[in-house]
Amino acid sequence: MEIELLRTRATKIAEILTKTNSPSYRGKQILGEIYKNYKFSYSAMTSLPLELRNNLVSEMGDSALTLTKVTESKEEQATKVLFQTTDGCKIEAVLMSFQPNDSRDYVHNSLCISSQVGCALGCTFCTTGKLGFTRNLSVDEITDQILFFLGNGQEINNILFMGMGEPFANPNVFDALKIITSKEGLGFGKRHVSVSTVGIIPGIKRLQQEFPEVKLAFSLHSPFDEQRLELMPITKMYPINDVMLSLKEFVEKTNKRVFIAYILLENVNDSIGHAEELARLIKKQGEKSYLYHVNLIRFHPGQTEKHFNTPSTKRVEIFTKTLDKLGIQNTLRQSFGVGIEGGCGQLAAKIPQAEN
Ligand code: SF4
Repeated sequence: MEIELLRTRATKIAEILTKTNSPSYRGKQILGEIYKNYKFSYSAMTSLPLELRNNLVSEMGDSALTLTKVTESKEEQATKVLFQTTDGCKIEAVLMSFQPNDSRDYVHNSLCISSQVGCALGCTFCTTGKLGFTRNLSVDEITDQILFFLGNGQEINNILFMGMGEPFANPNVFDALKIITSKEGLGFGKRHVSVSTVGIIPGIKRLQQEFPEVKLAFSLHSPFDEQRLELMPITKMYPINDVMLSLKEFVEKTNKRVFIAYILLENVNDSIGHAEELARLIKKQGEKSYLYHVNLIRFHPGQTEKHFNTPSTKRVEIFTKTLDKLGIQNTLRQSFGVGIEGGCGQLAAKIPQAEN
């Protein structure tokens, strides 16, 4: 199955064209039908000769998508879809609608997508981590989450790699980014794509080299190595200071804002001391420390991490005020009843795993 997952839809189509002696320009045409016209049935691509359509169907099945919808649920500002892959794995994506803060602003939709089935990194507050790791998603499985919503007529303004899995643990994410941001692919502006990482340094460096305009979020969740190691075992491999150094390089090379995601866990990481240490870490980044923005997310207990609690409004206020006082830009994210936008894993942590 792994080898099959490495073969993208584009490769398979090219192989079929060669095998059936069809002109290679048909490949671009077929991908255009999928990425631009949202036609997901090969038999319905009437711009293609019937014989080619039949060949595509007999070799790949009629559906151009690698995912099928299992369930869809709507909240006030969010639509959550549980997908099944062709080998029966379940993944989730959520479309979130952000309401304007004032009349000059506009409603915009962000789609939070998954990059892995489960996750191997085992952060203690995250339900995805508790699922364990099954496999990386293929390039097509990543992009098809977006195609599904676009095909349903949904307007999408931003793509967030903040669903199930650690994006930089899956090398397919970089090929998916090419499709998402290329003109021939889904055509999203690079500035409208965000990747959230727990601090996989090689991934941060690769993003800086290949997609410097894509937004980067570092899920920190504690400014103290010792405590972060307990919450996020990946800290052993990539300690906070090492990650902060790679962020410094990212900011210096790209001159772009970097986001620090911070889930507030009551009486764990929401003290004044934590806020002060977080501010110190950011100030230490030097003259461009003003380009660091903290996204605070109030923790909402999921099904399995009941040993953490949501901090009170008062504690959150004290934390944000401390950051304000120390000159650190911060935003308490809208949470839609689930804390989604700040860090990876939060999506799957909040959605019932309907058929797992
Ligand atoms: S928070 Fe992210 S990296 Fe950590 S276990 Fe969850 S999905 Fe994996």
